Amino acid sequence: MTLHNWYMIAAIGMIITAMLTPWFMTLPLARYGRHKLATARWEMPLPTRWAWMVMEAPASLVFALIFLLGDRSTAIVPLIFFLMWQLHYFDRAFLYPLRIRARPGQTESGAIVGSAILFNSWNAFLNAGVIGYSMIGQIYAISWLSDPRFWIGAVVFFSGLYINRKADHMLKALRAPGDSVYKIPRGWLYERITSPNYLGEIIQWTGWAIATWSLGGVAFAIFTAANLVPRAIQHHRWYHEQFPDYPKDRNIILPGVY
Ligand code: NDP
Repeated sequence: MTLHNWYMIAAIGMIITAMLTPWFMTLPLARYGRHKLATARWEMPLPTRWAWMVMEAPASLVFALIFLLGDRSTAIVPLIFFLMWQLHYFDRAFLYPLRIRARPGQTESGAIVGSAILFNSWNAFLNAGVIGYSMIGQIYAISWLSDPRFWIGAVVFFSGLYINRKADHMLKALRAPGDSVYKIPRGWLYERITSPNYLGEIIQWTGWAIATWSLGGVAFAIFTAANLVPRAIQHHRWYHEQFPDYPKDRNIILPGVY
């Protein structure tokens, strides 16, 4: 089998997995953060900060390894894509876990961590593969920099990154270090929707799909939406259950629409 065939199988497999993800998200096994009530010992719980680092590290490191072994790893456009990816994933793997205000004793299950490691490695193969290997079939020559798909995708990507980071930062500011409380987020996009951080993430990977114009990018953007929209719905219901004064006019994830 050629590398291109493996790439196609990995991309189509991710799209099929995305179709099953909303169902998977309803299982107790898939719960993390506020929706996880307790972690049994057999689940091999990890402290939340470590869990985030371990599960997100492959998205940065495996991606870097696969990319650097590719024949296109010194070309300008692939390098720009590489930096865009790492701007998000180096932060998510190694800096975001230091920023979060985990609850004292908070842990996440080994099943979540294990499945995220597998997923992030698979996704690294897809997306580092497409930008780093001409055998996969997509060559980002320097002329790609003047293609509108690149610019539109880059603007969408950075808009999503900004929304995601700002929204996550606002959540962090709700809790003092060492505290366990949840508060109703107020201000900015939180006046309109429950989960601007997830909206930003979905916009970001949609931008990546446009900028790379690749099946791997499309597969990851679909998966991100399939993963985060059900979680945004869970958060929305949770806020209404926990806070009788939760704003009734706040949408779930798309301002004014849903
Ligand atoms: P959440 O919004 O569930 O939580 C983010 C952090 O903020 C957690 O530390 C959480 O604490 C805290 N927090 C959330 N709401 C409140 C509140 N009302 N009051 C006080 N603290 C609060 O996000 P996730 O943990 O699900 O995701 C984190 C990041 O990872 C996001 O940027 C998301 O987009 C991204 N992500 C991307 C995925 C993808 O498929 N590409 C998949 C999953 C996440 P606690 O843990 O105690 O609830």
